[in-house]
Amino acid sequence: MTILDGKKTSADIKAEIAEKVKELKAQGKKTPHLAAVIVGNDGASKTYVGAKVKACELVGFNSTLVELPEETTEAELLAKIEELNNNDAIDGYIVQLPLPKHIDEHKVLLAVDATKDVDGFHPTNVGRMALELPTFLPATPYGVMELLERYKVPTSGKNVVVIGRSHIVGRPMSILMSQKRAAGDATVTVAHSRTANLKELTLKADIIVVALGVAEFLTGDMVKDGVTIIDVGITRLDDSSKKSGFRLAGDVHFESVAPKASFITPVPGGVGPMTIAMLLKNTLLAGENRA
Ligand code: NAD
Repeated sequence: MTILDGKKTSADIKAEIAEKVKELKAQGKKTPHLAAVIVGNDGASKTYVGAKVKACELVGFNSTLVELPEETTEAELLAKIEELNNNDAIDGYIVQLPLPKHIDEHKVLLAVDATKDVDGFHPTNVGRMALELPTFLPATPYGVMELLERYKVPTSGKNVVVIGRSHIVGRPMSILMSQKRAAGDATVTVAHSRTANLKELTLKADIIVVALGVAEFLTGDMVKDGVTIIDVGITRLDDSSKKSGFRLAGDVHFESVAPKASFITPVPGGVGPMTIAMLLKNTLLAGENRA
């Protein structure tokens, strides 16, 4: 069984990006600049955004953190987005989700200039991804593809079951793995909350991408020997033995699934760190495109 080590792989990718930034600086070219917008005080969101800004510093990017209060109106946020769209210093930016309930998320994502949409959530970029045109791939599925490719996990002709059909993980994951590309060429089934007989499907799967957000959902009796497991889930479970008061759990019951797996991602240290590395990769691309 091989652990797909997202921590190490993301460190490798960050080192490659840092090298590239050094070259850009030596050539007197512009340093890539990522901005992140966060609205409100959600603890997990703040942690994610903080990690993204820190990662920028690590690779030598410029970064700007825009923190807006919970009571920010939709109009105020849209005005901020307009400002970022028009700011030539910023190559790419993200709006951390979820947004407070009084703000229409869809309206906000549509307002982001697609050429700066390094999260790859704008309909233009989702369409370009589906059509296999150059674009910003959504960071989490992109990270999974990169992990599969770098570990040379065989995917061509394999049966893949993706559990979850969200716009940011499950759906793009299923599109990418079915395409003619590295870590693609698979036969993909998308399972979701209305799927009947999920276990029948997972027992036949060569690769299972689990992204439903239910802690330790996939258990050993649901998978066949030799399966490859990609665990995207992150759930905070109360744990009084931890200083933070919680521990992170994936969607996979690691103890029962890992002994049957040929490749498996851990949580934490699997898909999570890859997501940030791919956001940096998209920002580098945004900078190159603007130059
Ligand atoms: P979501 O809530 O938007 O979607 C969950 C999906 O799971 C839905 O499509 C739903 O139909 C499906 N589902 C729910 N119950 C099911 C069941 N019993 N059987 C089959 N399918 C079921 O979630 P999301 O945004 O895609 O996130 C999923 C998980 O991945 C969460 O734990 C989230 O925190 C995590 N996540 C991690 C990263 C990362 O960087 N590692 C990034 C994004 C999301």
